[in-house]
Amino acid sequence: MTDSNCIFCKIAGGEIPSATVYEDSEFRVILDLGPASRGHALILPKEHFKDLCELDEQVAAKVLPLAGKIGAAMKQALGCSGFNVVQNNGETAGQTVFHFHVHIIPRYEGGPAMVTWEPGKADSAEFAEISSSIKEVLQS
Ligand code: 5GP
Ligand code: ZN
Repeated sequence: MTDSNCIFCKIAGGEIPSATVYEDSEFRVILDLGPASRGHALILPKEHFKDLCELDEQVAAKVLPLAGKIGAAMKQALGCSGFNVVQNNGETAGQTVFHFHVHIIPRYEGGPAMVTWEPGKADSAEFAEISSSIKEVLQS
């Protein structure tokens, strides 16, 4: 299913032109309009899913292999030495387009620092409380 109000549905379906690096019957991979680094790409399923929690399992099973394939091609084609796979869910996590997508961000020697965080701290009581509350939901 697609959503007629969704820009990524329109891009994935070819209704709006994009710089496409890969396409098959289920996915289109495009270059991000505001690249974090040279070659920053987005994997878009052609079907509309709001985020990872709504993603069809069969589509999901194909996303990581495709991310690996795109990343390997970037290393050869662009000369990046690595890449990040980033996927945002929800506004607080930085999601701005509510059509599931995966960022493939090439990383270059000496390139800008990104996709990083300062390690925090938690004690064993907090770990126990967190793990039991998530487990409870998963088992219900
Ligand atoms: P999010 O923040 O939702 O994880 O990522 C959305 C990404 O889509 C952003 O990196 C943004 O630059 C990119 N983007 C938004 N609109 C368009 C568009 O119309 N075309 C392309 N190619 N990228 C877009
Ligand atoms: Zn959509």
